[in-house]
Amino acid sequence: MKAEIIAVGSELLTPDRVDTNSLFLTAELNRLGIEVTRKTVVGDDLGDLRNAFDQAMQRVELVIASGGLGPTEDDRTREAVADLLGRKLARDPAVMAKIEARFRQIGRTMSEVNARQAMVPEGADVLNNDRGTAPGLWLESRGRVVVLLPGPPHELKAMFGAQVEHRIAKLSSGVRLLARELRVAGMGESDVDQRIAPIYTRHSNVQTTILTAPGEIQVHLRAWTTDAPAAEAVLQQIQESIVLTLGEAVFTTRGESMEEVVARELTMHQATIATAESCTGGLLAERLTRISGSSAYFLGGVVSYSNTLKSAWVDVPAEIIDTRGAVSAEVAVALADGIRRRTGATLGVGITGVAGPTGGTPEKPVGTVHVAIADASGSKERMVRYPGERDRIRWQASQTALDLVRRYFLYAAQPKPSAKG
Ligand code: AMP
Ligand code: MG
Repeated sequence: MKAEIIAVGSELLTPDRVDTNSLFLTAELNRLGIEVTRKTVVGDDLGDLRNAFDQAMQRVELVIASGGLGPTEDDRTREAVADLLGRKLARDPAVMAKIEARFRQIGRTMSEVNARQAMVPEGADVLNNDRGTAPGLWLESRGRVVVLLPGPPHELKAMFGAQVEHRIAKLSSGVRLLARELRVAGMGESDVDQRIAPIYTRHSNVQTTILTAPGEIQVHLRAWTTDAPAAEAVLQQIQESIVLTLGEAVFTTRGESMEEVVARELTMHQATIATAESCTGGLLAERLTRISGSSAYFLGGVVSYSNTLKSAWVDVPAEIIDTRGAVSAEVAVALADGIRRRTGATLGVGITGVAGPTGGTPEKPVGTVHVAIADASGSKERMVRYPGERDRIRWQASQTALDLVRRYFLYAAQPKPSAKG
């Protein structure tokens, strides 16, 4: 089954407000096996509203709208839908009584405009609003279902959970959405696509979307199905083929963040880590400590921004900085090894680079970053050159550092099973 969402409200057509209700509704509908094929944002204009509902109802069986059910003159969803479906609006005494009771309960007198909210199109089911005064409405017409929900997100969510979800579940007849998400680091979008297109184009019943996020490429696989086990098997097969093709660039098949993956590896190997950062200003330490329980592996870190403190705090030899420059492979390695020795961590990580927009040179343009990782037996270093702005460069530098840690564990001995098994 397919659905469309209509977000009603002139404020949603200004730069000040954004429609978030449709994100919630899409997640809920997907969970119920319903695909959202279009979203419309429309202002509080009777003609525009009528058209929006008319067109949506020609395309899909289920139309869900939010907003425009309030008491004031600019709330017109009710009128527009009643007009479109040729239903008369009548004051519903039960709804009226509820609105009056609600006003009494909060100690306010009801003004006459609130009576508008008790106007119900004939044949509509009233959806109670436990969090506000505007009731929702459920209408069926010519094989279509139209659901009108209030705009305030907390009212909409409560109403959906209590009164809409079970009704929609009955409509959607066993269809489910199954999804997988793979994340890839250290490769570009077109490179990923070129390599995996031969895999996913073989399966027309699985929707494949490739998205870019800072420092990673995400591959989303979605299948709408009434036969979950068969679809799971197909998704599994596609996933395995992609992992085989992209190899260790795939850092998760469970939609985890890079720091979550690294946290898992560090914990599993009972390893500890410490950081010495320059251009990322502590971002790496921040990401490593986002995860609850990070004290088990993160010992600490320094932001050694000046050359003096690179030497004073992390023992980077001054002559290396003088001869190679602060942004160099040698300094990155010295930072990683220095912080490892100072803290006694299993692994030290060093980052130094030019985040820009100023400070670039012909040999070391903005975006040049050196990242290093060191353990007791040696070090590994990587130079990268990122395009883009300061924030992006800093984020990608932290991502590359985390990725270096992740890859380190790919080649580390597998952890011994504990005595308890
Ligand atoms: P209404 O039901 O049109 O009176 O909407 C009341 C309030 O709900 C608006 O002023 C917005 O703050 C909020 N709202 C309406 N529509 C949305 C939406 N699509 N997403 C998020 N908030 C909304
Ligand atoms: Mg409104």
